[in-house]
Amino acid sequence: MRGRIVLAVIFLAAFILLFRVTILAGEFDAVVTAAQFEKASETHTTLRAFFRRMPKGGDLHTHLSGAVYAERFIAWAAQEGLCVDLENVVLAKPQCDRAGARPLSDAMREQKLYDRLVNAFSMRDFLPTPAVPTGHDEFFAVFDRFGAVSGSRLVDMTVDQLKLYDGENVQYVEFMVSSWCPNDREKFSSAVAGASEDAAKLAALEASGLAECVAGKRNDLAAALGKISAALGCEADNTQAGCRVTFRYIVQIYRDNTPDEVFIQTATAAALIRAEPRLVGLNLVGPEDYLVARRDYTRQMEIVRFLAKDVPVALHAGELWLGLVPPPDLTFHIRQPSRSLAPGASATASRSPSSATRRACSRRCARGPSWSRST
Ligand SMILES: [Zn+2]
Repeated sequence: MRGRIVLAVIFLAAFILLFRVTILAGEFDAVVTAAQFEKASETHTTLRAFFRRMPKGGDLHTHLSGAVYAERFIAWAAQEGLCVDLENVVLAKPQCDRAGARPLSDAMREQKLYDRLVNAFSMRDFLPTPAVPTGHDEFFAVFDRFGAVSGSRLVDMTVDQLKLYDGENVQYVEFMVSSWCPNDREKFSSAVAGASEDAAKLAALEASGLAECVAGKRNDLAAALGKISAALGCEADNTQAGCRVTFRYIVQIYRDNTPDEVFIQTATAAALIRAEPRLVGLNLVGPEDYLVARRDYTRQMEIVRFLAKDVPVALHAGELWLGLVPPPDLTFHIRQPSRSLAPGASATASRSPSSATRRACSRRCARGPSWSRST
C-alpha cells in the first residue's frame, strides 16, 4: 500500500514537472526576451541597442521626404548644382548670381553654412523665435525649403529609408508620397470648374484624360521601382540591406488647397490606387489647423467619400488640440470621417497607429509577396 502511494506521488510530481516544462517551452522565447530586456534596461545605450534589433512589424505612417536626413538633401542639391536663398534658407534652381543666393556646393566646403542648412532642413537645434514661435510652424515650413530637390528624388529617398528600416528590423512600410499630373493641372482645373455636381466633375475629369494621367504615373512608378531594385542590388542578392523590407506607397493629397484642387488630387489618387497594387491608400496631408483645411474639412470628407468609397483611406487624427483651434473643431474631425468612410478607412494618429490601421495593414501585407521577391 505504501509503495503504491509513493508511486502515485512520483507520477504526480513527474506530471507536474512535465506540465511546467511544456508551458515553459511554449513561452521560452518570451522568457528569454524578457530576461534580455531586463538586462538591457540597465543603461540607455543597451536599451537602445535592444530596441534597434527588436522586430518592428510595419510602419504605416511615414512621410517619405520628411523622413530623409537633411544631409542627404544637401548632397543631392549640390550634385544638381542648386542654390540656396540665404535669407529664407530655401533651395532654388540654379540662379546663384541673384543677391543673397549661393551655390549649394559651397556648403560642402564651409561648415557654418552646412550646419545652417542641416538645421533649416530639419528640426535639429530648433529654438522658438518671434518669427517662428512654435515647432509646429517650423515643422511644416521645412518641407518647402528642400522641395526643389526632394520632388525628383523618389528613388534615392526610398532606397535610403529602406536601408535604414532594414537596419532597424522593420518588415513593412508605407511611404506617403505625392503622385499627380502637374502637366494636366490647368486642363483638369478647367474641366472640374465647369461642373457643379461631383458626378459631373468626375465625368469631366475622365473626359479630360484622367486615364492617360494614371497610365503615365504607373509607367513612372514601374521605372522608379526598377531603379530602386537596381540601386539596392536585390536582383543579384536579396539579402542586401533594404531588400528584406516590403514597401508600398500611400498617395498624399494636400488639404490646404481649394476644394476643386482637392477633388482633382483625390480623383487621381483613387484612380491610381485602383490601377496599381503598389499604391495602397490615400491620405490628406498638410496642417490640419490652417484656414482652408478647417474651413473645408466637411467638404473634403464629402469629396473623399464620393471618390474613394472603394479604396483604402488613412486620415490624420490627433493633430488638433485645445488652444490651437476653437473647441468646436475638436468635436468632429475624427467622428465625421469614421462614420462616413468605407469600412477599410481609418483615422490614424501620427505616432500611434490605431488597431484599425494595424488590421488594414495585415490585409495589405497579405496581398502578395514582398517587393524584393515579386520583382
Ligand atoms: Zn502624418
